[in-house]
Formats: sequence, C-alpha cells, structure tokens
Amino acid sequence: MTVTETGPAALAARAEALDAADGLAALRDRFLLPKGVVYLDGNSLGALPAAVPAAVEDAVRRQWGTDLIRSWNDNDWWGAPLRIGDTIGRLIGAAPGQVACGDSTSVQLFNALTAAARLRPDRQVLLTDPDHFPTDQYIADSVARMLGLTVRRVPVGELADVLAAEGHRVAVAAYGPVDYRTGELADMAALTAAAHEVGALFLWDLCHAAGALPVGLDAIGADLAVGCGYKYLSGGPGAPAFIYVAERHQDAFDHAVTGWHGHAEPFAMQSTYAPAPGIARARIGTPPLLSMLALEAALTAFDGVDMAALRAKSLSLTGLFLDCADAMLDGLGFTVATPREPERRGSQVSLRHEHAYPIVQAHIERGFIGDMRAPDILRFGFNALYVTHRDVFAAVEALREITATGEYTDERFAVRSAVT
Ligand SMILES: *Cc1c(COP(=O)(O)O)cnc(C)c1O
Repeated sequence: MTVTETGPAALAARAEALDAADGLAALRDRFLLPKGVVYLDGNSLGALPAAVPAAVEDAVRRQWGTDLIRSWNDNDWWGAPLRIGDTIGRLIGAAPGQVACGDSTSVQLFNALTAAARLRPDRQVLLTDPDHFPTDQYIADSVARMLGLTVRRVPVGELADVLAAEGHRVAVAAYGPVDYRTGELADMAALTAAAHEVGALFLWDLCHAAGALPVGLDAIGADLAVGCGYKYLSGGPGAPAFIYVAERHQDAFDHAVTGWHGHAEPFAMQSTYAPAPGIARARIGTPPLLSMLALEAALTAFDGVDMAALRAKSLSLTGLFLDCADAMLDGLGFTVATPREPERRGSQVSLRHEHAYPIVQAHIERGFIGDMRAPDILRFGFNALYVTHRDVFAAVEALREITATGEYTDERFAVRSAVT
C-alpha cells in the first residue's frame, strides 16, 4: 500500500513539521495542562494559566487575609474592573476607556440591550439570531417585553438584506460573530456597516471571539459588545464578563442595572443615581474580586502575543483538523459543519454524527476533551495558545478508531450527565 500525501502518515508528518515551525509553541508553557489530556474545549472553559494559582493565593492570603478592607485602595481593588477592561480591550481592538469587566455575560447583555434600545427610542424592533446562544435570545425577549419592543429572529445570513429593507425600524441588531455550534464566522465589519447605514446599532456578543481571533471593535466602528472571561480568555470557571461601550455612546449610555459602583460619586452615598463619566458608568456593584484577579492573571498569557499570529496558528490548527477529518473519517458517518474557507470560520471545528454523544464520551475517556451540542454536533475548540498540531492529528486519529471499531457503542458512553 502506498501512502498518499493526504494519508495518515503524511498528515502526522505534516503535524510534526507545523509544530516544529510554530513560533508560538512556547506559549503552551503559560498553561498548566494535565498529562495525557488533549484539551479541545477551551471554547467552553479555558485551561488553567500557570500564573493563576499564585495570583489567587496572593489575593486570598495577602490581599484579603492581611490587607483586609485596605485592599480597595492599597491593592487597587477599586480600579480592577476598568484596569482589566483595558487589558481585554487590547485583545478586541478597543482603545483604553471603553471596556468594563464584571458580572456575567447574561447580565452584561441585559444592560447592553436596554441601553441600545434607549439610544434609539423611536425604534421598535430588536433583531437577533434564531441560532444565537440561548441566553442571548432569552434576554432579548425579556428586554423586549420590558420596553414594549418586538424581537425579530433573522438568520445572520439574511441580516444585511433585512436591514437594508426594513432597518429604519430597527433599534439594535444583536449577534455573535462566531456561531457557537458550527464555528461559522460572520463579517463583523460589513454587518456593523449595514446596521449603521440605516441608523441602527449593533451589539456584538464576543464570547467565542475574544482571545480567539483579532476583533477590531474600534476599527469597524462598533457600538456595543459583551463577552465572557472563561472561554478563550481562560479566566476560570465563572470568570467575570465584560462590556464595551464605544466612547461616542458613553455620555448617553443608560443601562438597566444602575449600581452604586457606576455612580459619579459612589461614596457620597446619594439616594438618586447620577452616572459616572466615561466607561465607569458601566460598572454595576461590588465585583467578584477573587474571580476578577484570577482573570487578570490569566490574561498575562496573552502578554506580547500578536493576535494576527495567533489567528494564523488557529487557522493552521483548524485547517489541519479539516484535512485530517477528510482523509481519516471518510465513510464513518461524519459530516463537517464548519465552513472550509478560512475567513468564514472561528477557532472551532464542528462535525455532525448521528451518535455524537457517545462518540464524544468515548473520545473523552481516551483523553481528548471536546464537547457535544444537541442534537448531533461534536465540537472542538482550538486555543492556539496551547493546542498543538500533533494534538489535532491525534484527536482525529482517536475519533477514527472509536468510530471504526464501534468502541463508542458501549453502554457506559450512553449515560447522560447534567452538563453536556
Ligand atoms: C458562553 C456564552 C454565553 C454565556 O453566558 P453566561 O452568562 O456566562 O452564562 C452567552 N452568550 C454566548 C454567545 C456564549 O457563547
């Protein structure tokens, strides 16, 4: 038998060569990855950055334990939301003073959507994606009920046409650049421009983009954005989220949850709300500082990292995964759900298979951690800071073995946990 250029041996050799030439390879040392695990679920919960344990220890023992309440000033706990917001800003193309860190994505979405609607008080329609992450759709519906608006669900592929035809009634379009199931990447610049063309605002949910690929919020003239801290930013379970408010909207930014930390004079303890100037008004209440300081330490994994280089490596990883899947999974019941054109995919590859759930479980037992999204999607996320090309090859090879041998049909892989 001759090994063709796309045969497994050639792909294994290609993976090795790509790793040898990888200028970002050393960044993997910024993470503490367990032995024997190939981690392809950093799009759900990023791996543990090496800087985090000591930072959390310091936050707990010294800052909390010893410095106590003095830490608000002495360790600048007060400044953390905007300080960390600026650090995140660098990764999403936002100049300083436009990002606040805190609370969850769900809470930030609620605030961003209400603020967007109030910035366009004469408009009744809120557009969102029927395939958007559930929380984004639920909150859009809730905000609409609260403010007397109408939610219209328009697939991202039809959004530009709908905006052009009926955009004069649209207050805000709320979408994610990366489809969390298929990994399809939308054209943020074009869609933002299409909304602005008809006077509507755009709210981007960057959960699957922040830290995964370059996002030029300022460059595309973005209005509002939110995103979470625990996916590609690797801030840890329940890490605080962030909100971006473009500088030009900050004076009129009138969100729903007006907490005392966003007050112009928080320690004047006034009985009515007067917003702080600038992005500070997007602060809410006392932030979860232990989580926030963990996120701050986690973000040092991006120190000196050029997001364009990170994107190039990410595309190299996902491209190799697709080539391996084509060559090695043929005839085993898989189809590729992720666009093949590099500019149309995020940092994830999704496959469909009728038996996605048990296959993912069997894969995990072998040490390859991806996840499954109902009904039939196997999802693999590639954080280019720590995933290697050899990981990619080994993951597909294991998928092939599990499926070709029927290993996944063992009944232990059919047991469903609460979280999938
Ligand atoms: C992960 C994710 C969320 C999660 O919201 P939480 O409030 O952190 O639970 C929301 N929206 C999108 C698009 C996501 O990918």
